[in-house]
Amino acid sequence: MKKEPISEARNLQNGSPAGPKFAREAVELGDPRELFRFCPSCGSTGIGWSGRFWRCGTCGFEYFHNVAAAAGLILNSGGSCLFLRRAKEPRRGCLALPGGFVDPGEAAERALQRECREELGWAPENLRFLASYPNRYTFKGVEYWTCDLFFIADLNKKDIDRLAPDPEESTGMEWIEFSSIPWPSIAFESTRQALRQYLLRI
Ligand SMILES: [Zn+2]
Repeated sequence: MKKEPISEARNLQNGSPAGPKFAREAVELGDPRELFRFCPSCGSTGIGWSGRFWRCGTCGFEYFHNVAAAAGLILNSGGSCLFLRRAKEPRRGCLALPGGFVDPGEAAERALQRECREELGWAPENLRFLASYPNRYTFKGVEYWTCDLFFIADLNKKDIDRLAPDPEESTGMEWIEFSSIPWPSIAFESTRQALRQYLLRI
C-alpha cells in the first residue's frame, strides 16, 4: 500500500471530498485529531485526521468516523406528545423523544420498536416516517455526527396506562400538548426540527 508522510495525511483536511467547510466544522467538534495518537493497525505515530477520516501515513490504514443512525418517536395521544426526561448524559434533565441508536444489521423501524420496549415497556406497531435531521451527540468526550430518523405513531388515551417507563433511562414521562412545547428544554436540535415539521402536518 502506498505510504504517505503524515504531513500529507493532515493536508487532506483542506482537500477532502467533502470540502474545506466540512473539515472546518469537524475540527470544531472537540477536535477529533486528539482521539487517536497511535495507529490502531501498526502502532506508529503516523496517524492523521483528514477532516473526514484517520489515515496512517506509515501503513496506509484508514478509519472513517462515520455518521451513526438513530430513530425517534413522536407519539401523539389526543393532541399531546410523549416526552421522556433524560436520566443520562448528554443533556441529562432535558426532554427527549423515545428512541435511540440503530444497531448493526438493524432496520430503523425495528430499532425504534426495540428502544420503545426498553424505555416504555411498550412498542408502537404502526410507524409512519416523518423526516430525518442531522444531529451531534457527545459520549465520553467523543462527538459523533448522527442522522436522526423520526417516526410518528398514535396512542389511544385508554392505552396510556400500558406505558411503563424504565427509571434508568428517564426520570419521568411527560405528556405535553403540541401547542405548548417548552422548546428550550428539548435535548436535541434535531428533535426540535422534527417537532416543527410535525406541527406543519397536524
Ligand atoms: Zn499504521
